[in-house]
Amino acid sequence: MEKLIVSKFGGTSMGDAAAMRRSADICKKQNSRMVVVSATSGTTNKLIELSKTAEQGDWGGCEKLIYDLRERHFTIGKELEIPEYTRTKIADLLSETETLARGIHLMRECSPRAFDRMQSFGERLSSLLFTEALTQAWPTRTVKNFDVRTVLATDAIYGKATPLTEKTAENANRLLGNLRAENTCYVTQGFIGMDPQGHTTTLGRGGSDYSASLLGEAVAADVVEIWTDVDGIATTDPRLHKGARAIRDITFTEAAEMAVFGAKILHPTTLTPAMRRDIPVFVGSSFEPEKAGTWIRREVKDAPVFRAVALKKEQALVTLSTPKMLNTHGFLSRVFGVFEQHRVSVDAITTSEISIAMTVDRPMLTHEALFKDLRELGEVTIEEGFSLVSLIGNSMNHKPGLAVKIFGAIEDINVRMICLGASKHNFCVLVNEVQGPEVVARLHQALIEA
Ligand code: ADP
Ligand code: ASP
Ligand code: MG
Repeated sequence: MEKLIVSKFGGTSMGDAAAMRRSADICKKQNSRMVVVSATSGTTNKLIELSKTAEQGDWGGCEKLIYDLRERHFTIGKELEIPEYTRTKIADLLSETETLARGIHLMRECSPRAFDRMQSFGERLSSLLFTEALTQAWPTRTVKNFDVRTVLATDAIYGKATPLTEKTAENANRLLGNLRAENTCYVTQGFIGMDPQGHTTTLGRGGSDYSASLLGEAVAADVVEIWTDVDGIATTDPRLHKGARAIRDITFTEAAEMAVFGAKILHPTTLTPAMRRDIPVFVGSSFEPEKAGTWIRREVKDAPVFRAVALKKEQALVTLSTPKMLNTHGFLSRVFGVFEQHRVSVDAITTSEISIAMTVDRPMLTHEALFKDLRELGEVTIEEGFSLVSLIGNSMNHKPGLAVKIFGAIEDINVRMICLGASKHNFCVLVNEVQGPEVVARLHQALIEA
């Protein structure tokens, strides 16, 4: 039986007409049945800027941004020689973008719901263009564009919605039918979904990877492919350190740790749906599709102690201290209850007799309600300007001499916090943000290149 493949293309793979054509050729070669696309590179940032500019009351600035968005999408449309009805659909979406910007400008307010709607235009525009590119590249297939919001159901937490997986599978079954049996390839949008009231939501920045995996789960795909601008997952971000090496095979667990601890190549929760259904995920370059790429699977042959190094920037350290922690039980659960209630995630934690130190993403510091609740539990101190550097691998908690090796490589660096032992797949250190890239390079050289 033919494999059911869901392929996702990121922003650079949608960047211009040539990139779209290259990506379309890949879909044809792979025989993809569903294609999930990101906005053209830089467009989501532009839409965010548009919302902020409108909120600040700068209509001149908004006009410039809307002009840029029009230019970008119509230029690609022209180069792809799209038919008139698609041109009209693109023009309609761009007018809707402008109308929403006017609404925000008029109110001088951008609600979370309006903000998600604004960001949705990027994927909606690129998917229309890509549908045409794929139709041209693959005349023997019926290429259909579908609005992912009719399938991908989420809750109503704008900006970081949680998918409702059962509802999503039900919608996919009802609306898309049997993908294996049909001669259709569906093109749809990553990153966006719909809440129970019918409002547009987003899954968080970089969320198109997550969409592909969620849709792969919903249609019981055999493979999910993530096509991007690098040849698969490397031992560290190749932009950060020249010594980065390609990884050919990696486990779900290791790749998920990398994603959660800052490797931008995958959105942090991408692998969760694929793991639930045991769907192998391939990561490859749409610019050099002939290269090997990376396969992510439940099990792989080798399990090195040190597989990769990841960097998570913009970290803040929140310390909560209170004598109430002494000889009491249930205190930690109250602390985590507060984080859960406000849906803020903590990456690294250490505790002492009377205090608990946790790292959070710096933007979370503006979350007043969270800090108000934390202050009710004890004294809160906040320090900013850190990066979390994580070593990802296997059996790390069973290796004699591991700490010596790690600290030997960074002995002159001031380490603010360490986390070892909680996971056999991860060891992390919190260091000053300016030293982050240096720490990545040193650990990589000492433990992975050595
Ligand atoms: P897309 O738009 O296709 O989703 P992203 O920019 O989100 O692409 O992710 C790809 C980028 O991830 C690469 O260009 C690379 O700089 C970065 N990256 C971070 N860590 C890694 C890693 N370990 N291996 C490969 N790429 C990485
Ligand atoms: N376009 C969205 C972003 O830039 C989602 C994605 O590219 O995955 O964050
Ligand atoms: Mg991405």
